Amino acid sequence: MSHSMFSAPETHSVKQNQSAWIATAAGQPLTRTALDKPSLSTEEVEVAVEHCGLCYSDLAVLQNDWGNTRYPVILGHEVIGRVTALGANAKGVQLGQRVGIGWNASSCMHCRPCLSGNQHLCPQIELTVAEHRGGFASHIHAHWAWVIPLPDGLDAAEAGPLLCAGVTVFAPLIAHAKPSSRVGIIGIGGLGHLALQVAASVGCEITAFTSTESKFAEARALGAHHVVSSNNAQALEKQRGRLDLLISTVNVKLDWGALIATLAPQGRLHFLGPVSEPVPVAAAALILQQRSVAGSVTGAPVTMADMLLFAARNQIVSRNEHFPMRDANSAIARLASGKARYRIVLDADF
Ligand SMILES: [Zn+2]
Ligand SMILES: [Zn+2]
Repeated sequence: MSHSMFSAPETHSVKQNQSAWIATAAGQPLTRTALDKPSLSTEEVEVAVEHCGLCYSDLAVLQNDWGNTRYPVILGHEVIGRVTALGANAKGVQLGQRVGIGWNASSCMHCRPCLSGNQHLCPQIELTVAEHRGGFASHIHAHWAWVIPLPDGLDAAEAGPLLCAGVTVFAPLIAHAKPSSRVGIIGIGGLGHLALQVAASVGCEITAFTSTESKFAEARALGAHHVVSSNNAQALEKQRGRLDLLISTVNVKLDWGALIATLAPQGRLHFLGPVSEPVPVAAAALILQQRSVAGSVTGAPVTMADMLLFAARNQIVSRNEHFPMRDANSAIARLASGKARYRIVLDADF
């Protein structure tokens, strides 16, 4: 286990006031800590953080739910900021440019997935949190390819969640939905509220599935044509055979058999939420209608760039609650309460 990212700088590094909100062990509150400026590698870009989203994945990293967290850890992987330094070989961005950094901070750039344009599937992917200094900091580093220019027309203060939640919903919708598609979105939360907006912008006929009746009107306002209670067996039965693409953003157990039955021939159930229990799938339900069950996580840098342009052009906006960075612990408590509508963004105040 390496803590080298927090160790003293090499002698040629210039000492500079950088600081971050750091957790030293699982579940511990974040404390503000001064850091030495790390040396910038030739392929890296340094970004001064202006805003950073807080996502359920940050909570999972804080609690070491996935077993890969290296403490001390700096959370935050929905970063908006300005480029403050460029490594000698950094390309594609300029000093002072406003940019975003999402779930991934670097990839090897020479493996088969990287050379195929699927850098997010690189076996050597370096995550922005867990294995790296994240965005709850005055500054962050990332490989230049993963530093995405923010297009004009996006509000920098609200754009952070697009870098994670936004690209996560955009990637399967843009790959698998046509304007004529009937699309279902399960869960109207941080991912779902963006998925509804993207599907509406593509022009799909949209059915939202939620267990929370108080969200029916919100789902319609975000673009849903129909809203169905996800735990009402009769309501699900009425959807049988309809949907070309059904995207699940939840992490709770649902009646997956009934949901697969809502798929049209060649329909696809696509998981974005990590359901903790295995999903039982009857092979016959797939075979006879040529249906599929799949999943994905985030997207490649080009998909992130396309998503930001698509969001700017179509006025897709993450609905965020804001906290100053010094209130990061309150923001974490708010997220954990499940009451945030729909995402949380921390505004840097170092
Ligand atoms: Zn995230
Ligand atoms: Zn690679």
